[in-house]
Amino acid sequence: MPKFKRCQLDEKAEFGKIKCMKKIIVDNDKCIGCGLCANLCPEVFEIDESNKSRVKAGADMEKNEKCAKESIQSCPVTAISNEPL
Ligand code: SF4
Repeated sequence: MPKFKRCQLDEKAEFGKIKCMKKIIVDNDKCIGCGLCANLCPEVFEIDESNKSRVKAGADMEKNEKCAKESIQSCPVTAISNEPL
């Protein structure tokens, strides 16, 4: 059983219109530790000891896809990106 559902990403889709995602990446150099992503999507993001966001180990991206996308779109410094399937 695949861990992630099949991607229906349209390569021409604009940012924010991603239909599925494989992996979330937080750029620690950009993150200002505002905590927004961890509030929006607490099962995926957490703030670490250095006050930066990180993706929780084993985060269920399929279950949390909606809030993860919201976090990508809401991050004030665009520190979160994703790797489409
Ligand atoms: S929303 Fe962006 S800046 Fe704020 S903690 Fe998350 S990754 Fe960092």
